[in-house]
Amino acid sequence: MKSQAKVVVIGGGVVGVAALYHLAKKGWGEDVVLLEKAELTSGSTWHAAGLLPLFNMSYSVGQIHKYSVELYQQLEQETGQSVGFSQVGNLRLAMNDDRMDEYYQYAATAKTIGINVRFLTPEDIAELWPLCNVDGLVGGIFHPDDGYIQPADLTQALARGARARGATIYRNTPVLAIEQATSGAWVVKTEKGDITCDHVISATGNYARKTGEMVGLDIPVMPVEHQYIVTEPHPELQRRKAEGLPEMGVLRESDGSWYLREENNGFILGPYEKGAPACYVDGPDPRAEYELFQEDIDRLEPHIEAAMNRVPAFGEVGIKQVYNGAIAYTPDGNPIIGPAWDVDNFWLSEGHSFGITAAGGAGWQLAEWIVEGEPTIDMLGVEPRRFGAYADKDYLIEKNEEAYAHVFIIHYPDEERPAARPLKTAPCYERMKARGAVFGQKFGWERPNFFATDGMPQEDDWSFRRSRWFEAIRKEVLNTTSNAGLLDMTAFAKCQVSGPGAEAFLDYFVANSLPRRVGGIGLCHALNKDGGIHSEFTIRRDADDSFYLVSAGALQRLDHDYLKKHMPRDGSVEFTQLTDDIGVLVLAGPRARQILQRVTDADLSNEAFPWLSARNIAVGGAAANAMRVNYVGELGWELHHPMDAQNPIFDALFEAGEEFGLKPFGIRAMDSMRLEKSYRMVGTEMSIEYSAYESAMDRFVKPDKGDFLGRDALLAWQERGANNMLVTLEVSGVDDADALGNNALFSDGEMIGRATGGGFGFRIGKSLALGMVRPELAAPGTRIDIEILGKNYAATVIPDSPFDPKNERLRDVNGAND
Ligand SMILES: Cc1cc2nc3c(=O)[nH]c(=O)nc-3n(C[C@H](O)[C@H](O)[C@H](O)COP(=O)(O)OP(=O)(O)OC[C@H]3O[C@@H](n4cnc5c(N)ncnc54)[C@H](O)[C@@H]3O)c2cc1C
Repeated sequence: MKSQAKVVVIGGGVVGVAALYHLAKKGWGEDVVLLEKAELTSGSTWHAAGLLPLFNMSYSVGQIHKYSVELYQQLEQETGQSVGFSQVGNLRLAMNDDRMDEYYQYAATAKTIGINVRFLTPEDIAELWPLCNVDGLVGGIFHPDDGYIQPADLTQALARGARARGATIYRNTPVLAIEQATSGAWVVKTEKGDITCDHVISATGNYARKTGEMVGLDIPVMPVEHQYIVTEPHPELQRRKAEGLPEMGVLRESDGSWYLREENNGFILGPYEKGAPACYVDGPDPRAEYELFQEDIDRLEPHIEAAMNRVPAFGEVGIKQVYNGAIAYTPDGNPIIGPAWDVDNFWLSEGHSFGITAAGGAGWQLAEWIVEGEPTIDMLGVEPRRFGAYADKDYLIEKNEEAYAHVFIIHYPDEERPAARPLKTAPCYERMKARGAVFGQKFGWERPNFFATDGMPQEDDWSFRRSRWFEAIRKEVLNTTSNAGLLDMTAFAKCQVSGPGAEAFLDYFVANSLPRRVGGIGLCHALNKDGGIHSEFTIRRDADDSFYLVSAGALQRLDHDYLKKHMPRDGSVEFTQLTDDIGVLVLAGPRARQILQRVTDADLSNEAFPWLSARNIAVGGAAANAMRVNYVGELGWELHHPMDAQNPIFDALFEAGEEFGLKPFGIRAMDSMRLEKSYRMVGTEMSIEYSAYESAMDRFVKPDKGDFLGRDALLAWQERGANNMLVTLEVSGVDDADALGNNALFSDGEMIGRATGGGFGFRIGKSLALGMVRPELAAPGTRIDIEILGKNYAATVIPDSPFDPKNERLRDVNGAND
């Protein structure tokens, strides 16, 4: 057996083999090895139904699936191994208008990434699927390029393609342990010997947590039982075949939570049942191969009934076999593809619940990332570091069962799932709840999304359109802009970077200049090595050698891991995690100074406490660091305080604020206000797919300050010319729905970009969107069209920051409230 390799892939299911194939394709064939404990496909891959659904609401997953489907069509020609690709199309049915809205919203994403879809009326459906009863349908969406494949044949074809390029596969070779040599190299241990390598890819399906344990990682993957039924042949399907009629497409009744396709003149029915249990909670038996569980017909029954109603022929045939196998899940249902946290060169491609579909794209991006140092598409939606330490075994059991049961629910943009909540709460949680807060969850934390007032029910109202909470956030915004509002941002990710090397390191790590004075604040971006934006930090200088960094709560593990992996290893820089120690209350609005002044002796005047500065002050007797910044464009302070000081501060502010009209506001009001200021967000307006200049962050990039991470690539990108430019758009003619992001943008009928976010701006009374367009169409005044839920609306490029473009309010230039 080889003793050296650049990469060892663990796991010979479709996902591991696809990673091996792509590494070999990148020219590393002689240096890559795959270890499989039994036979290839002996995990989940062999019993998969082989469907290749392109439909996915996530931008990252959509791109990955699209790549796979294109690749799989060429594999037979390339390798000589048939993969049994039946491109029969895929038809999803809609039984209500919200479901149609979901399809329209999805179709916008599909359009912007080049996936072909068609909308169908019930009559079209009857024509395409003559055995389908169309009663109660409002329409459907059809993917003509979709279909199904033979998973084992696909895996063998990928293995053949990898071997042809020099890659080595060892079957019957379980990995027993993984150690790290002092050089940093990985040593992968098997009974047949050890392999020393630079990189390890874990693609071990249901064993993900066991593999993670070998290197001290708590992997957020837990399988759930999944069943499908294969029936006896049906005479009607036999007749259609005998007459040479085409096979009918894969049929999905989302509202009944099942799919159906033809198989050997019979049917395969695959339901996503409620109550399907998590399995292998302590890992499968190390000797398990081709393992199936006892079927559970009771759980299948409601779906069988729904399918019989929709396709009566299905009820006319007997069941031949039921497959009940383990399907890997993560808490949000998307896989984890990319680097692990805390360890170097350890890669994860795990948690695949649509692994046959995702394998090709996952392998492609992993190979890019490992060989070239960066992925080529925005992988945030599948980023392994999007979960945190809170995702422990008990959490995974609850959340993954929920994710499975939710596969076919309507994926509302404002959906918040209930399982395993509340998990982490800020001290002011109960106080916010008493004021009407309706919470959402980010990275385990409960955060008020909005406040139910004036008798409205204290519950969410999900929709693709303006729903009940639209009026609630109008009130929150208007109160914040005319009086003052208080927002809980305790979920922010916080850390301290200190030590003699801290300044030099951070100066290299981010593109902006660091704040020079103690108490100074700067908005700083860490680029990736290609010049795209990876992370955004608000950095406060606390001392010559100490900095406090704040970033998005949802990205805590990602941002902190990125930072730590770039830190020098000579002990000159120290990282301290502060998220759980420090709470954040944001006080914003024209009366913020008057309120805060009531509870502090500190001088809050513009002269003593200007915008973008921070001071340690006492608030109602409790210590806080007040930072004069916010994300809503009003005069205000973020109060960062020890967690146990939160309620005293909260109470003091509300007591003092009563006469000034202080009221709480939530994340959705914040999002509306940030749109009016054209403030960008990582993951939408800023991503690795856009250069920092394309995201129009010029004023935060200082190419003349000296070298920084991604600088040369950024300048080279600028030299080559931008492909995109971020614009703010005013959308006309909408009355019940705003852009949600991923909307296609058109000029003269041609697609010229995509909206990255959108919503209603209550302070300016306009529907707004942010978007990326071709640079020649970025000038204010340019007319373009935007597609929202299937309809085109006129939109106009307007100058950035339509609300208070000169920042007079947050700088409080008139000092009206001194
Ligand atoms: C009933 C059912 C139907 C499904 N239908 C579909 C479908 O229609 N479409 C779709 O896209 N997906 C479907 N799936 C999901 C799909 O099967 C999985 O997403 C996919 O097979 C995952 O592939 P994988 O390579 O990650 O995992 P696996 O196929 O499980 O491979 C992991 C491999 O790692 C090996 N391994 C583990 N530990 C070690 C170790 N220590 N050393 C060496 N080797 C190790 C295992 O032996 C195994 O072969 C279905 C799943 C089920 C259960």
